[in-house]
Parts: sequence; structure tokens; C-alpha cells
Amino acid sequence: MNKLLTTLTVSAIAVAGLTTFAVPKVDAATTYYKVKVMDDGLRIRTGPSTSSSVITGVAKGETYKYLGRTGNWTKILYGSSKVYVSSSYVKKYSVTRYYKIKVMADNLRVRTSSSTSSQQVGSVDSGETYRYLGKKGDWIKFLYNGEKRYVHADYVKKYAVLKLTNSGASKASKNFVTPTSGPITQGYGAASGVYGYTFHNGIDYGAAKGTPVYATAAGKVTTSKNYGAYGNYIMMTHTIDGSSFTSLYAHLNSRSVSVGQTVSQGQLIGTVGETGNAFGAHLHFELHRGTYVYSATSAASSVNPLDYL
Ligand SMILES: [Zn+2]
Repeated sequence: MNKLLTTLTVSAIAVAGLTTFAVPKVDAATTYYKVKVMDDGLRIRTGPSTSSSVITGVAKGETYKYLGRTGNWTKILYGSSKVYVSSSYVKKYSVTRYYKIKVMADNLRVRTSSSTSSQQVGSVDSGETYRYLGKKGDWIKFLYNGEKRYVHADYVKKYAVLKLTNSGASKASKNFVTPTSGPITQGYGAASGVYGYTFHNGIDYGAAKGTPVYATAAGKVTTSKNYGAYGNYIMMTHTIDGSSFTSLYAHLNSRSVSVGQTVSQGQLIGTVGETGNAFGAHLHFELHRGTYVYSATSAASSVNPLDYL
């Protein structure tokens, strides 16, 4: 879902006296970006990779300054450190700061320039608010009926307004979705070796034979066949924010896509089975950065899908 330019909240900072604000050189609003953590315990890493060291976990709802994006990784400011989090678990939004004034007296005269000798073009009353445009001596320049006008600074208070807007640059939808239902019966990583491998390159979902299997992301099918330990399996390539990924779905009971076919995220591609080297029905799901490279003893090109789903 692309919530482009959806206004989330508008919050006004408490009204404060004029003297507490430094007068900005330009009147223009300033905009910067932040990210909000969408998942509890999100891991913060030293680099844009799951092999980078984990610094800590952060809580859902916390916000950090956005610094940039590398593939599926978002660079943020954590304290004074530049660190990385998976883009799948944060939501980017823009923060625009501008100023307003609140009128503190009734019948305050509005003038064409910063002088009591300039023409009076109207008056404003206590409690009314206007867009602040700048300061000139003892006078405040503000927007009045679409014109740049002036009131005396003694009778207004300036305050900052923060407008938070979803940038649309990091869509609310995830880049990858869970390919089937069912509990994870074997995680990613080191394995006992009893099944012929000491590194499990994917995750297993325990699900009944015939349970639907879906494409984790939009992509193109590169393999769809019954072969070897994977049994009936499908591989597809994805391009996410300029980075390529390969996903793999093994031990399927049935396959409903063929090589060269384009699939959309969440499209039905087959059903859970126990073909190949499988002990009981389950989906073996792998995700690789770039092309598929397999090793029975190391991650090779695989990544932990849970860091992306
Ligand atoms: Zn497996």
C-alpha cells in the first residue's frame, strides 16, 4: 500500500516567548526525514548486512533520523553512530518544521511595512494564528490574506509547528511476505548435520500437504522442476530497490508456475508437500542476495529470511 503524502499527525509545539527562538535567516520551512521502528526488538547493525555485528535491539515506535538507504538497509543515526536496520521494519516519514505566530492582543494593527508610519491594512485579534515569515527589528512579518504584512512583535508569540508526512519512499508494504502459513519448525543457520548439512540455508514452515505457497515478492520464475533433495521446487528472482534477490521454495506437492513466468507478490505458486529429502510435509524456503549459491556448510549467498519478511 502506498500512502503517498498521507498526513499522519500535525503537532504544535507549546507556545513559547519570542525571545527563546533564534531568528532563522530564511523563512522557508525546513524538511528532514526520520524512520519509525515498526517491529519490537529490531536489530541495529554496524553495516548493511546480516553478517554485520548487532549493536542492540530497539523497540517498536522509537524514531530515528534517516541518513540514507543501501539495498534493503536503511542507515540511521543511533546516538552519534551511523548504523543500519532492515528497511522492511521501519517506516520513513518526513518532518517539516515551520513557524506560526499567535496574536496576544485584540485589535492589533496590521501594516504594510515595519514602521508605525506605514499604512494600516487591517487588524487581528487575540488567539488568531498566522504563518510566520520573518522578523525585522521589532516587527514580525507574517502572511495575512495572502500578503506579506507586519505586526509589532510585542503582541504576538512565535511557535514551531512540525508536520509529519509519510514520504511514500518507503512504502508501508513489506518487500517480502511470508510464503505460507504454519509454524517455523527449523530456523536458519547452524544445523546438526544429521540430514547431510551443517548449515540450514533457509527456514522450514510446518504445514499440511496441500497448503498454499505464495511468491514472497514480485519476480520472475527461473526454475520449476522436480529434482534431487529439493524435490518439486521453484526459484524466482526479484529486484527490490535496485538489489536482486533469489527465493526458493522446496519439497512442494504441486507447482503452478513455469520458467520465465512473471509473478506478483503473494501470487499462488504451488502447495506444500514432502517431495525430495523431506521428513513430513513442510515448506523449505530460502532467500538469497543476488543469484543462488548453495553450500551445505555455510550461508553462501543465502540470508536469514526472517531479517526480510
Ligand atoms: Zn529446510
